Amino acid sequence: MNFDKILEYQEVDKKLTLIEQDFFKNEICVSFVGMQSKLKQAAAKLEKVTTEAAEVTKSEKAYVERIKNIESELLELEKVIDGIEDLNEAEHYVKMITNLAKELENLEKELSKDKTKANDIKKEWGETMKAGQEFTKKIKAVKPQYDELFNKTKADREVVEKELKKIEKDIPADLLNHYKALKKAKKLPAFVEYVAGSKMCTGCRMELSQDVASKLKNPGDMAECSDCGRILFIKD
Ligand SMILES: [Zn+2]
Repeated sequence: MNFDKILEYQEVDKKLTLIEQDFFKNEICVSFVGMQSKLKQAAAKLEKVTTEAAEVTKSEKAYVERIKNIESELLELEKVIDGIEDLNEAEHYVKMITNLAKELENLEKELSKDKTKANDIKKEWGETMKAGQEFTKKIKAVKPQYDELFNKTKADREVVEKELKKIEKDIPADLLNHYKALKKAKKLPAFVEYVAGSKMCTGCRMELSQDVASKLKNPGDMAECSDCGRILFIKD
């Protein structure tokens, strides 16, 4: 098989990789993407804090309700106890009052804990919100530069993509698909020339199996490296 076209394709495709690398390494892109991810994190945190706040408010309400009920129960019991003459009966009510008072005390403690928690949540919410606003401001400031870079990269890519499309027409589909799969797996260059008799993959430097090596004898031969999957070939 003749490998000129796929090799030409691979050579041109290198330009695409370089364009992409330049884009992702660019300071503007790094800062833009970094701030976007921070903003995303802040938004996720705000959502979490909001849920927590709702839960605390709900349990706070429940505590306040329960405290009110106990207070009115206590009042009722105190009224009853005033009219009791039997000592045993009085003792029974005193016990009930003591228990209710204890419960009241516990609930008040819980409520005060909740209030501390609510304050912490409020503080965290405020801080996260402020951070989020800062990130938004910074993103907005860098956006025009980022857009310019993005559009320039896109235009550069399109030129190379056109070039690739032209070459593609002359490459057998299975060969091209193989190349694309290897590229996706970050195995570039995907097509590597075999050094006759080396019994080694030029891509990953691993020793070839006997079976693979035996397929690489004459010009035009090709075989898949059993280790990295790259295509080894002998020029015809
Ligand atoms: Zn290999």
